[in-house]
Amino acid sequence: MNPSEIPQAEAQLIVPTYSRPEMVFTHGEGVYLFDSEGKRYLDMVSGIAVAALGHSDPEWAQAVAAQAGKLTHVSNLYHTTPHIELAKRLVDSSFADRVYYCNSGAEANEAALKFARKWAGKYHGTKKKQVIAFEHGFHGRTYGALSLTHKAKYREPFAPLLPDISFLPFNNIQAAQDAVDDNTCAVFVEPLQGEGGVNPAQGDFLRALRECCDAHNAILVFDEVQCGLGRTGYLWAHEAHGVYPDIMTLAKPLAGGLPIGATLVTEGIAQAMGVGDHGSTFAAGPLVCRAAQVVFDRIAQTEFLHDIRTKGEKAMRQLKEMPTNHITEVRGAGLLIGIELDQSVKPLIEAARQQGLLVINAGENVLRICPPLIISEQELEEGLGILSECISNL
Ligand SMILES: *Cc1c(COP(=O)(O)O)cnc(C)c1O
Repeated sequence: MNPSEIPQAEAQLIVPTYSRPEMVFTHGEGVYLFDSEGKRYLDMVSGIAVAALGHSDPEWAQAVAAQAGKLTHVSNLYHTTPHIELAKRLVDSSFADRVYYCNSGAEANEAALKFARKWAGKYHGTKKKQVIAFEHGFHGRTYGALSLTHKAKYREPFAPLLPDISFLPFNNIQAAQDAVDDNTCAVFVEPLQGEGGVNPAQGDFLRALRECCDAHNAILVFDEVQCGLGRTGYLWAHEAHGVYPDIMTLAKPLAGGLPIGATLVTEGIAQAMGVGDHGSTFAAGPLVCRAAQVVFDRIAQTEFLHDIRTKGEKAMRQLKEMPTNHITEVRGAGLLIGIELDQSVKPLIEAARQQGLLVINAGENVLRICPPLIISEQELEEGLGILSECISNL
């Protein structure tokens, strides 16, 4: 099909849950994407914080091709090797003792929710069902994950959602201390909220959640689907605060663009689950797990993580120094940065695109940049230059 026919064909063939700009991407290399007319774009979206190694990384592509030529899928009915080799890396590098695999961030949170409810029912009786999540939090679009997601626009058309879930103000210690009690089964929080506006959790807040959960035997779940695996310049975002969860959910960047999710748990939680309690046809497949090994091994390098922090700090500093009245706040960590404007960011996203720069929003007034983690200082500089120009033209 001719690329120029794609937008119209899409309008007829695809369920209209997304609105996309007109260009059609055909390939990518490193931090750049190319459309069907040959125009080049600097990608500071990375497929929503997914393409951590950029596009068409040679080592990644080679590993995926080699694995596809060997074995892609046999289902969870049989043993294979790559998911164990990946699990060893995830467990050795984190608080967790065991891994449950799935195919997306929403599914990773569904599993966390099921594990928490099963654990609570098994060890603490039927009353311990209450789940707490936070305002502006995002945990996915399936029913369980959606029930934990705060945005009314995402939730309301699909009611009724799961009962026994309540939302508390983010970064409010007192509200958490008042709400968590012996009936609390789990507390879900993003250590750095992504979709909800790039809002960092304060260390004291996470510490208070840990204490509340310990005091009332509740499970603390860190959703690191977006902020985990190096994005903040720490392998796990919570490491910056020295606060550790009982469950951590992962997805977006884990397999470098192939669909994967993982729910990392402590031994105690794993022991509440038995054969047949949960499952997935595709999960833990050799292809995605081989791809994820390549991604993990690159990101987990101390120097690579250190560079992310350096690049992020430099970018934040530059953004804060931009000579404009339109920026009201710059916040984030590592290479997940939110730029709050005094107006809707839609025109800015469009203007940047015209200039060959891709950026996204995180809510109405917040521009989000989350480039591939491999971006060089020079490429970052290039992107911020375009952005600065577009902001001054607002
Ligand atoms: C994107 C995201 C999810 C949902 O992931 P999907 O793969 O789209 O289901 C969950 N939690 C957070 C923090 C996310 O950013």
